[in-house]
Amino acid sequence: MMLRRRFLQFLSGGLFSGLTGLFFRKPLFAMQDYGSQGKLVLILENGEKKQLFTFDKSGEYFISVKNFSDLTGLGIFTNIEKRKTVLYVQDTKIKFTADNPFVIINNDQIIQVVLEPFWKEGEIWIAVEELARLLSGYSALKVSYNRATGEVILGNKDINVTRVDVFTKQNGVMVQLSATKKFAEKDLSTKKVNNWFYLEIIGGKLDPKVINRSVSNELITEIQAVQLEQAASVAFKLKNDIIDIHLSSGDGSNDIILNLVTDQQLEKDMKAREDLHEQKKKWLIDTIVIDPGHGGKDPGAVGVGKIKEKDIVLPVALKLGTALKNALPDVNIVYTRDTDVFIPLWQRTKIANQANGKLFVSLHCNSNRSSKFNGFETYFLSSEKDERAKDVVMKENQSIEFEESEDKKRYEGINFVLATLAQNAFIKQSQYLASTVQKKMALKLKPLGMNDRGVKQGPFWVMVGATMPNVLIEMGFISNKFESKLLMQKSTQQKLADSICDGIVKYKTDFESSI
Ligand SMILES: [Zn+2]
Repeated sequence: MMLRRRFLQFLSGGLFSGLTGLFFRKPLFAMQDYGSQGKLVLILENGEKKQLFTFDKSGEYFISVKNFSDLTGLGIFTNIEKRKTVLYVQDTKIKFTADNPFVIINNDQIIQVVLEPFWKEGEIWIAVEELARLLSGYSALKVSYNRATGEVILGNKDINVTRVDVFTKQNGVMVQLSATKKFAEKDLSTKKVNNWFYLEIIGGKLDPKVINRSVSNELITEIQAVQLEQAASVAFKLKNDIIDIHLSSGDGSNDIILNLVTDQQLEKDMKAREDLHEQKKKWLIDTIVIDPGHGGKDPGAVGVGKIKEKDIVLPVALKLGTALKNALPDVNIVYTRDTDVFIPLWQRTKIANQANGKLFVSLHCNSNRSSKFNGFETYFLSSEKDERAKDVVMKENQSIEFEESEDKKRYEGINFVLATLAQNAFIKQSQYLASTVQKKMALKLKPLGMNDRGVKQGPFWVMVGATMPNVLIEMGFISNKFESKLLMQKSTQQKLADSICDGIVKYKTDFESSI
């Protein structure tokens, strides 16, 4: 009962609008120019205070990377055409791209940020929280952001070995340790134990968080650093045996150079296994989750001639899976159900997350008390209140009523604003997926006389908790005589499956070429 009351209260907008005021000061997608000074103060290492230009977006403060570099004296390079900016912090390069959640460190590490940088007035703007996290995690700087006081405090870590780079050479691997002071050769020692190679630097100080990482190199797979009281130790995990070691503290620079010589013929592997390429792999869309709505005791909407939504969406889902398998043979297809069974909403995203899904596509049919409504539309999850979406949101969320009372409790503590905030990283991608799917559907369905109702957004339970871009497709109105007849036909179901498949393929191609 409690659940139902809160649920209805939510749908009627009471709870919702209250929270919206708190968490979304501005609409998510409408951007206005109200950058201002005075909200955030940058405190330099010498205690000097400077005002940062800030831009308040969805309750998060964004700052201009250019402004930050001007105030701190850090180097910067901006490519206006490509909307990219590189920030230089000693030996570390941090590359930001507008409207892209992937930040690239030193050309070989890809980090995903939750709040995407954006482009405004010829500059990249980044959430101050993300910038602090990136600088502290990957550079020699220590940046802390105090949300309560609006202070951004800059400091240097007490380190003299700033980073470690690994380069493949003809006859082995060169390791370069960048240092801010010159180490004498007597302070450097090496040893090899099993498949680990150790370098000890007496007087060395480093930040293990910055140094530690896995690398995909022909010889070295992992770097592990430890800070000891009198020395720093850097260990390298080796894939192959080494036959010789040359150690030198670089001529004319502070760098420590290690040449690890192997007897392997390495050249042929070099091109094939480029580091960045390896990292990109984990972002590729290799698993797609298809979610036919309703099933079992939950018929979904019941339309003209008593046809049930659950009986239309299942064959379309199976046809979509086959079409995707043909178009993308390397992609793994997962169904939340492939028979007529009941699956609670919460379990659907759980299945998707556990399968490591990269896209989640939920299939539904629409219905309305008025038989004149017709057409197909695609939704992405959003806490934005869209009046046009209200009926559809209520209809699809009603599946909860079929769930066991124990299961219903799962929805009680969740509020949509926070849940969708957690999905911010995927909202743009979901919106783009919705648009490619809707466009491709229009190409095949409009000639049948079906109406293109466009892309919409709404707060659907089935999409909350999916840690991947996700859309919900309403494939037509089974309450409309003309469309219910079409939707029952195998040929229409095939057209739906093929066009949704086309939309997914288009999205996959565009997304993967952007990373
Ligand atoms: Zn449905």
